[in-house]
Amino acid sequence: MKAYRISAPHTVKLEEMEALPVGDNCIKLKNLICGLTHTDLSALSGEATGVKYPIIPGRQCVGFVSEVGRSVAGLQRGNRVVVYPQASCHNCKACKDGRYYDCEKPSVFGVGEDGFLSDFSVVSADDVFAIPDRLKDEEAIFTEHTSMAINVLSRLNVEKGEHIIIVGATIVGIILAQVAMYYQAVPIVVDMHEELLDAARAAGVYYTANTITEDVTKKVLALTGGHMADACAFIPSSDVPLHNVFDFCKKHGRVAIVGRPYGQDLKCSLKAFVEKNLELVTVTDCGKNYPSAINMLANRTVSTEMISTRVVPFADVPTAIENALDTSAAVEKLLVKI
Ligand SMILES: [Zn+2]
Repeated sequence: MKAYRISAPHTVKLEEMEALPVGDNCIKLKNLICGLTHTDLSALSGEATGVKYPIIPGRQCVGFVSEVGRSVAGLQRGNRVVVYPQASCHNCKACKDGRYYDCEKPSVFGVGEDGFLSDFSVVSADDVFAIPDRLKDEEAIFTEHTSMAINVLSRLNVEKGEHIIIVGATIVGIILAQVAMYYQAVPIVVDMHEELLDAARAAGVYYTANTITEDVTKKVLALTGGHMADACAFIPSSDVPLHNVFDFCKKHGRVAIVGRPYGQDLKCSLKAFVEKNLELVTVTDCGKNYPSAINMLANRTVSTEMISTRVVPFADVPTAIENALDTSAAVEKLLVKI
Protein backbone atom coordinates (compact mmCIF):
# COMPACT_ATOMS: atom_id res chain seq x y z
CA MET A 1 0.00 0.00 0.00
CA LYS A 2 1.00 3.61 -0.51
CA ALA A 3 0.82 6.07 2.35
CA TYR A 4 1.99 9.55 3.20
CA ARG A 5 3.86 9.31 6.48
CA ILE A 6 5.11 12.09 8.72
CA SER A 7 8.37 10.74 10.14
CA ALA A 8 9.16 13.89 12.14
CA PRO A 9 7.94 17.51 12.13
CA HIS A 10 8.26 19.05 8.63
CA THR A 11 9.01 15.69 6.99
CA VAL A 12 6.26 14.00 4.99
CA LYS A 13 6.96 11.36 2.35
CA LEU A 14 4.99 9.00 0.15
CA GLU A 15 6.05 5.50 1.21
CA GLU A 16 5.44 2.04 -0.13
CA MET A 17 4.34 -0.02 2.86
CA GLU A 18 3.54 -3.69 3.36
CA ALA A 19 -0.12 -4.63 3.05
CA LEU A 20 -1.72 -4.93 6.50
CA PRO A 21 -3.34 -8.22 7.53
CA VAL A 22 -7.11 -8.06 8.03
CA GLY A 23 -7.93 -9.25 11.57
CA ASP A 24 -11.11 -11.12 12.53
CA ASN A 25 -13.19 -8.08 13.44
CA CYS A 26 -11.52 -5.76 10.94
CA ILE A 27 -12.19 -4.49 7.45
CA LYS A 28 -9.86 -3.39 4.73
CA LEU A 29 -10.78 -0.05 3.20
CA LYS A 30 -9.95 1.31 -0.21
CA ASN A 31 -9.81 4.92 0.88
CA LEU A 32 -11.79 7.26 -1.38
CA ILE A 33 -11.45 10.65 0.24
CA CYS A 34 -9.51 11.92 3.23
CA GLY A 35 -10.15 15.24 4.98
CA LEU A 36 -7.10 16.97 6.42
CA THR A 37 -7.66 18.83 9.67
CA HIS A 38 -5.86 21.35 11.81
CA THR A 39 -4.53 18.40 13.84
CA ASP A 40 -2.88 16.92 10.74
CA LEU A 41 -1.23 20.21 9.84
CA SER A 42 -0.09 20.61 13.47
CA ALA A 43 1.39 17.10 13.40
CA LEU A 44 3.41 18.20 10.40
CA SER A 45 4.45 21.55 11.86
CA GLY A 46 5.37 19.89 15.16
CA GLU A 47 2.88 22.00 17.18
CA ALA A 48 0.59 19.07 17.98
CA THR A 49 1.18 17.21 21.23
CA GLY A 50 1.02 13.46 21.70
CA VAL A 51 1.70 12.51 18.07
CA LYS A 52 3.30 9.08 17.73
CA TYR A 53 5.76 9.60 14.87
CA PRO A 54 6.07 8.11 12.31
CA ILE A 55 2.38 8.57 11.62
CA ILE A 56 -0.01 8.51 8.66
CA PRO A 57 -2.16 11.68 9.06
CA GLY A 58 -5.86 12.14 8.28
CA ARG A 59 -8.65 11.05 10.65
CA GLN A 60 -11.57 11.99 8.38
CA CYS A 61 -12.08 9.29 5.78
CA VAL A 62 -14.71 7.82 3.51
CA GLY A 63 -13.79 4.46 2.05
CA PHE A 64 -15.04 1.44 0.22
CA VAL A 65 -14.98 -1.94 2.01
CA SER A 66 -12.64 -4.15 -0.04
CA GLU A 67 -12.16 -7.03 2.39
CA VAL A 68 -14.04 -8.21 5.47
CA GLY A 69 -12.63 -10.10 8.48
CA ARG A 70 -14.12 -13.46 9.53
CA SER A 71 -16.29 -12.28 12.43
CA VAL A 72 -17.53 -9.01 10.93
CA ALA A 73 -21.31 -8.79 10.87
CA GLY A 74 -23.36 -6.17 9.04
CA LEU A 75 -20.75 -4.98 6.57
CA GLN A 76 -19.95 -6.38 3.17
CA ARG A 77 -17.46 -5.89 0.43
CA GLY A 78 -18.63 -2.90 -1.63
CA ASN A 79 -20.22 -0.93 1.24
CA ARG A 80 -19.10 2.65 1.58
CA VAL A 81 -18.32 3.75 5.13
CA VAL A 82 -17.22 6.79 7.07
CA VAL A 83 -14.67 6.31 9.84
CA TYR A 84 -15.17 7.45 13.46
CA PRO A 85 -12.34 9.87 14.37
CA GLN A 86 -10.84 7.67 17.04
CA ALA A 87 -10.05 3.99 17.45
CA SER A 88 -11.66 2.36 20.47
CA CYS A 89 -9.50 0.27 22.85
CA HIS A 90 -11.89 -2.75 22.97
CA ASN A 91 -10.84 -3.34 26.60
CA CYS A 92 -12.57 -0.78 28.81
CA LYS A 93 -16.06 -1.21 30.26
CA ALA A 94 -17.67 1.10 27.68
CA CYS A 95 -16.11 -0.85 24.78
CA LYS A 96 -17.13 -4.18 26.30
CA ASP A 97 -20.70 -2.85 26.52
CA GLY A 98 -20.54 -1.88 22.84
CA ARG A 99 -20.43 1.87 23.60
CA TYR A 100 -17.27 2.49 21.58
CA TYR A 101 -17.97 6.24 21.39
CA ASP A 102 -17.57 6.32 25.19
CA CYS A 103 -14.21 4.48 25.16
CA GLU A 104 -12.04 5.46 28.14
CA LYS A 105 -8.76 5.12 26.22
CA PRO A 106 -9.51 6.16 22.66
CA SER A 107 -6.70 6.76 20.23
CA VAL A 108 -7.27 9.50 17.67
CA PHE A 109 -6.44 8.50 14.07
CA GLY A 110 -3.54 10.55 12.78
CA VAL A 111 -2.30 11.22 16.33
CA GLY A 112 -2.05 7.98 18.33
CA GLU A 113 -2.96 5.60 15.46
CA ASP A 114 -2.24 5.76 11.76
CA GLY A 115 -4.80 7.84 9.86
CA PHE A 116 -6.08 7.44 6.32
CA LEU A 117 -3.88 9.40 3.94
CA SER A 118 -3.12 6.14 2.14
CA ASP A 119 -4.66 4.08 -0.64
CA PHE A 120 -5.72 1.27 1.72
CA SER A 121 -6.28 1.00 5.49
CA VAL A 122 -7.33 -1.68 7.95
CA VAL A 123 -9.71 -0.66 10.77
CA SER A 124 -11.91 -2.32 13.34
CA ALA A 125 -15.43 -2.81 11.99
CA ASP A 126 -16.63 -1.12 15.22
CA ASP A 127 -15.01 2.16 14.18
CA VAL A 128 -16.86 2.63 10.87
CA PHE A 129 -20.44 3.48 9.85
CA ALA A 130 -22.06 2.54 6.53
CA ILE A 131 -23.36 5.43 4.45
CA PRO A 132 -26.24 5.44 1.94
CA ASP A 133 -25.61 5.67 -1.82
CA ARG A 134 -27.19 9.13 -2.12
CA LEU A 135 -24.61 10.63 0.22
CA LYS A 136 -21.56 11.70 -1.80
CA ASP A 137 -18.04 11.13 -0.47
CA GLU A 138 -17.49 14.92 -0.38
CA GLU A 139 -20.56 15.31 1.85
CA ALA A 140 -20.00 12.30 4.10
CA ILE A 141 -16.56 13.62 5.03
CA PHE A 142 -18.40 16.22 7.18
CA THR A 143 -19.96 13.55 9.43
CA GLU A 144 -17.49 14.36 12.23
CA HIS A 145 -18.42 18.08 12.21
CA THR A 146 -22.13 17.27 12.11
CA SER A 147 -21.85 14.77 14.99
CA MET A 148 -20.01 17.31 17.06
CA ALA A 149 -22.69 19.92 16.30
CA ILE A 150 -25.43 17.54 17.48
CA ASN A 151 -23.36 16.91 20.61
CA VAL A 152 -23.10 20.65 21.32
CA LEU A 153 -26.87 21.17 21.13
CA SER A 154 -27.48 18.18 23.32
CA ARG A 155 -24.91 19.27 25.95
CA LEU A 156 -26.33 22.82 25.95
CA ASN A 157 -29.92 21.49 26.18
CA VAL A 158 -31.00 23.93 23.49
CA GLU A 159 -34.78 24.01 23.16
CA LYS A 160 -37.27 25.16 20.54
CA GLY A 161 -37.46 28.95 20.32
CA GLU A 162 -34.22 29.59 22.22
CA HIS A 163 -31.52 31.89 20.88
CA ILE A 164 -28.10 30.31 20.49
CA ILE A 165 -25.10 32.46 19.69
CA ILE A 166 -22.50 30.64 17.63
CA VAL A 167 -19.14 32.37 17.84
CA GLY A 168 -17.15 31.21 14.82
CA ALA A 169 -18.57 30.74 11.31
CA THR A 170 -16.21 27.79 10.92
CA ILE A 171 -17.30 24.50 9.37
CA VAL A 172 -18.57 23.28 12.74
CA GLY A 173 -20.20 26.68 13.35
CA ILE A 174 -22.07 26.68 10.03
CA ILE A 175 -23.21 23.08 10.49
CA LEU A 176 -24.17 23.79 14.11
CA ALA A 177 -26.37 26.67 12.96
CA GLN A 178 -28.18 24.35 10.54
CA VAL A 179 -28.75 21.69 13.19
CA ALA A 180 -29.99 24.40 15.61
CA MET A 181 -32.53 25.58 13.00
CA TYR A 182 -33.65 21.96 12.55
CA TYR A 183 -34.27 21.87 16.32
CA GLN A 184 -36.29 25.11 15.86
CA ALA A 185 -33.82 27.15 17.87
CA VAL A 186 -32.69 30.56 16.56
CA PRO A 187 -28.97 30.80 15.75
CA ILE A 188 -27.08 34.09 15.70
CA VAL A 189 -23.70 33.51 14.06
CA VAL A 190 -20.85 35.82 15.09
CA ASP A 191 -17.48 36.14 13.36
CA MET A 192 -14.95 38.77 12.37
CA HIS A 193 -14.68 37.59 8.75
CA GLU A 194 -17.46 38.77 6.44
CA GLU A 195 -16.82 36.00 3.88
CA LEU A 196 -17.41 33.37 6.57
CA LEU A 197 -20.61 35.15 7.64
CA ASP A 198 -21.64 35.06 3.96
CA ALA A 199 -21.30 31.27 4.08
CA ALA A 200 -23.45 31.18 7.23
CA ARG A 201 -26.10 33.27 5.48
CA ALA A 202 -25.93 30.95 2.46
CA ALA A 203 -26.73 28.12 4.90
CA GLY A 204 -29.99 29.87 5.75
CA VAL A 205 -28.87 31.69 8.91
CA TYR A 206 -30.91 34.86 9.21
CA TYR A 207 -29.05 36.60 12.03
CA THR A 208 -25.32 37.24 11.83
CA ALA A 209 -23.02 39.78 13.48
CA ASN A 210 -19.51 40.97 12.65
CA THR A 211 -17.30 41.66 15.69
CA ILE A 212 -15.22 44.19 13.76
CA THR A 213 -17.94 46.30 12.18
CA GLU A 214 -20.80 45.93 14.65
CA ASP A 215 -21.51 46.23 18.37
CA VAL A 216 -22.44 42.57 18.80
CA THR A 217 -23.74 42.87 22.38
CA LYS A 218 -26.13 45.63 21.32
CA LYS A 219 -27.26 43.64 18.29
CA VAL A 220 -27.90 40.52 20.38
CA LEU A 221 -29.86 42.64 22.86
CA ALA A 222 -32.08 43.88 20.02
CA LEU A 223 -32.44 40.47 18.33
CA THR A 224 -33.45 38.77 21.58
CA GLY A 225 -35.90 41.48 22.64
CA GLY A 226 -33.65 42.54 25.52
CA HIS A 227 -33.20 39.04 26.97
CA MET A 228 -29.78 38.14 25.51
CA ALA A 229 -29.01 34.62 24.32
CA ASP A 230 -30.06 31.47 26.17
CA ALA A 231 -26.96 29.58 25.07
CA CYS A 232 -23.66 30.25 23.38
CA ALA A 233 -21.30 27.94 21.50
CA PHE A 234 -17.79 29.29 21.38
CA ILE A 235 -15.34 27.94 18.80
CA PRO A 236 -11.78 28.92 19.88
CA SER A 237 -10.42 29.19 16.31
CA SER A 238 -12.86 32.09 15.72
CA ASP A 239 -10.24 34.36 17.31
CA VAL A 240 -12.96 36.21 19.26
CA PRO A 241 -11.93 36.70 22.91
CA LEU A 242 -13.74 34.26 25.22
CA HIS A 243 -14.78 36.91 27.76
CA ASN A 244 -16.82 38.70 25.05
CA VAL A 245 -18.97 35.59 24.83
CA PHE A 246 -20.16 35.96 28.42
CA ASP A 247 -21.62 39.37 27.52
CA PHE A 248 -23.84 37.79 24.85
CA CYS A 249 -25.57 35.41 27.31
CA LYS A 250 -28.51 36.03 29.56
CA LYS A 251 -28.34 35.37 33.31
CA HIS A 252 -28.14 31.60 34.01
CA GLY A 253 -27.29 31.07 30.34
CA ARG A 254 -25.20 28.13 29.09
CA VAL A 255 -21.85 28.34 27.34
CA ALA A 256 -20.08 25.55 25.44
CA ILE A 257 -16.46 25.63 24.35
CA VAL A 258 -16.46 23.62 21.14
CA GLY A 259 -13.34 21.79 20.01
CA ARG A 260 -9.79 22.04 21.24
CA PRO A 261 -7.95 25.34 21.32
CA TYR A 262 -4.89 25.09 19.07
CA GLY A 263 -2.20 27.45 20.19
CA GLN A 264 -4.77 29.96 21.49
CA ASP A 265 -4.75 31.07 25.08
CA LEU A 266 -8.18 30.65 26.61
CA LYS A 267 -7.31 32.70 29.70
CA CYS A 268 -9.95 35.33 30.47
CA SER A 269 -11.68 37.20 33.25
CA LEU A 270 -14.50 35.16 34.78
CA LYS A 271 -16.16 38.22 36.31
CA ALA A 272 -19.15 38.35 33.94
CA PHE A 273 -19.32 34.57 33.96
CA VAL A 274 -19.74 34.47 37.75
CA GLU A 275 -21.99 37.52 37.94
CA LYS A 276 -24.37 36.06 35.40
CA ASN A 277 -24.32 32.56 37.00
CA LEU A 278 -23.46 31.01 33.67
CA GLU A 279 -22.93 27.29 33.15
CA LEU A 280 -19.98 26.01 31.16
CA VAL A 281 -19.59 22.75 29.25
CA THR A 282 -16.82 21.62 26.91
CA VAL A 283 -17.43 19.54 23.80
CA THR A 284 -14.47 17.95 22.02
CA ASP A 285 -16.00 14.70 20.81
CA CYS A 286 -18.76 13.38 18.57
CA GLY A 287 -20.58 11.24 21.15
CA LYS A 288 -22.93 8.62 19.77
CA ASN A 289 -24.19 10.88 17.02
CA TYR A 290 -22.63 9.35 13.89
CA PRO A 291 -25.83 7.59 12.71
CA SER A 292 -27.92 10.77 13.23
CA ALA A 293 -25.27 12.90 11.54
CA ILE A 294 -25.16 10.59 8.49
CA ASN A 295 -28.94 10.79 8.28
CA MET A 296 -28.96 14.60 8.51
CA LEU A 297 -26.40 14.87 5.72
CA ALA A 298 -28.18 12.30 3.55
CA ASN A 299 -31.59 14.00 3.84
CA ARG A 300 -30.05 17.49 3.39
CA THR A 301 -31.07 18.76 6.83
CA VAL A 302 -27.41 19.72 6.85
CA SER A 303 -26.01 21.02 3.58
CA THR A 304 -22.28 21.38 2.99
CA GLU A 305 -22.56 23.22 -0.34
CA MET A 306 -21.58 26.62 1.08
CA ILE A 307 -18.46 25.26 2.77
CA SER A 308 -15.39 26.26 0.86
CA THR A 309 -13.39 23.13 -0.02
CA ARG A 310 -10.29 22.39 -2.05
CA VAL A 311 -10.14 18.89 -3.49
CA VAL A 312 -6.63 17.79 -4.41
CA PRO A 313 -5.44 14.55 -6.01
CA PHE A 314 -3.35 12.13 -3.92
CA ALA A 315 -0.19 12.96 -5.88
CA ASP A 316 -0.46 16.68 -4.98
CA VAL A 317 -0.54 16.21 -1.19
CA PRO A 318 2.96 17.60 -0.41
CA THR A 319 2.32 20.89 -2.26
CA ALA A 320 -1.21 21.22 -0.89
CA ILE A 321 -0.01 20.70 2.69
CA GLU A 322 2.81 23.18 2.26
CA ASN A 323 0.37 25.79 0.94
CA ALA A 324 -2.05 25.11 3.79
CA LEU A 325 0.77 25.57 6.34
CA ASP A 326 1.69 28.89 4.74
CA THR A 327 -1.83 30.33 4.93
CA SER A 328 -2.28 30.67 8.68
CA ALA A 329 -6.01 31.40 8.47
CA ALA A 330 -6.89 28.65 6.00
CA VAL A 331 -10.61 28.89 5.43
CA GLU A 332 -10.74 26.18 2.78
CA LYS A 333 -11.29 22.60 3.83
CA LEU A 334 -8.59 20.44 2.30
CA LEU A 335 -9.91 17.15 0.88
CA VAL A 336 -7.67 14.58 -0.74
CA LYS A 337 -9.18 12.41 -3.46
CA ILE A 338 -7.38 9.09 -3.35
ZN1 LIG B 1 -12.37 1.37 25.24
